[in-house]
Amino acid sequence: MSSYTVAIVGAGPAGYFAAQALQNLQSDELSFSIDIIERLPTPWGLVRSGVAPDHPKIKTVAKVFEKIATAGNVRLFANVELGKDLSIEDLKARYDAVVIATGTSQGRTLGIPGEDLPGSMSAANFVPWYNAHPDFKDESVDLSTSTAVVIGAGNVAMDVARMLALEPSELDLTDTAEHAIDALKASAVRTVIISARRGAEHAAFTSPELRELPKLEHTNVIIEKKDIDSALARVGENIEKDVKSNLEAMALIAEQVPAGHERTMKFQFLATPKEIRGTGKVEEIVFTKTGTEEEFSIKCGLVITAIGYEAIPLAGIPYKNGKVVNTDGRVEENLYVVGWAKRGPSGVIGTNKSDSSDVMKLLVEDLKEPKPHTDIADLLSGATVVSQGHWEAINAAEVAAGEAKGKPRVKSVAREELLLLGKL
Ligand code: NAP
Repeated sequence: MSSYTVAIVGAGPAGYFAAQALQNLQSDELSFSIDIIERLPTPWGLVRSGVAPDHPKIKTVAKVFEKIATAGNVRLFANVELGKDLSIEDLKARYDAVVIATGTSQGRTLGIPGEDLPGSMSAANFVPWYNAHPDFKDESVDLSTSTAVVIGAGNVAMDVARMLALEPSELDLTDTAEHAIDALKASAVRTVIISARRGAEHAAFTSPELRELPKLEHTNVIIEKKDIDSALARVGENIEKDVKSNLEAMALIAEQVPAGHERTMKFQFLATPKEIRGTGKVEEIVFTKTGTEEEFSIKCGLVITAIGYEAIPLAGIPYKNGKVVNTDGRVEENLYVVGWAKRGPSGVIGTNKSDSSDVMKLLVEDLKEPKPHTDIADLLSGATVVSQGHWEAINAAEVAAGEAKGKPRVKSVAREELLLLGKL
């Protein structure tokens, strides 16, 4: 029987699925002790701080994470930061293998003039703000404008636009951060424009997300029929299945008669952002009609860019083009990468299951003689470590606080508050 130690850095979906893959690869001859190291005091990554709060079904995958976490060979070291409390070299020296699962948390930028004005922000800040991520609780989100523009035609842009255009009382029974519910209730935003630089046939939305939009009870959703007709004309007969399904979903929206609600979410296509203008804050955004010199502008006080993410580099790990340099998840000796840090920011949560599983098979192929087991506890004397037990106390307290209000949970936003809930 060979027993190996593996450190997984990052307690998000890719990290848990890597642990699960290792559990599944165990046999009479092979076993693993897995330590999951997480910078935040709470695990679950994007399932906690990315998935839109009005999509609670997507979050049920957390039950799978907890099953993996409590299977007997996994320990959680949350509130422990690589680069501060521990180095990658510490981990590589002590564990048989180290798996980076830290995602891509920084928003890509447009690189246009005015992008730094107050009122212009990235979805990479807005999404964790409404999801009670401790690092974004004090984010300044100016909702005093009547019109907001969201740049990008992916599911993150759609989440952001929906959150801005929903009747905020629809969030009362969700786990949206309480500060965000208050701000959204006071919001002056009534029109949200989702802006795509290419035609509808190239939109990166997925059709289930488009198909749920007509079900919004208090928001007009507007797509111009001419935009779908011209997209259909451009794609012609040999239309891909996903594109067909997307265009059908958009055509259904285009056929709807606007319901006369106070709030509107509107799609625009073939609009390339050129400049954000304003004196001291965002006042308008200028576009060109894609492929032409023709300019037009939209008066607005808020621009949110949702155009993809890149990794924030960690010391001692090679990065290029916003991700960790790797070949099929192998980085260098006993160092591996999974998830968005490996392949870039694409795919849904479930995509990480097969991806992590493929990389863990390679990790097992590469294993040599097990190293003598050593603990990392001696390195962490200065850190307040949140263990699985502490996290379970935090989780139970949040769920109990939610029960009283009919919500799945009430998230605590401050690190100190989370540590107190964990009885630390
Ligand atoms: P995405 O799907 O890659 O979409 C990014 C969008 O940004 C594309 O429309 C892209 O347009 C646009 N874009 C990129 N650079 C731009 C620029 N310089 N100017 C204007 N537009 C630009 O990324 P995402 O929305 O961040 O989502 C990431 C992944 O998470 C996706 O796989 C998504 O499906 C998934 N996700 C899923 C859900 C869900 O299942 N409910 C929710 C959220 C996210 P071009 O195509 O022209 O480059």
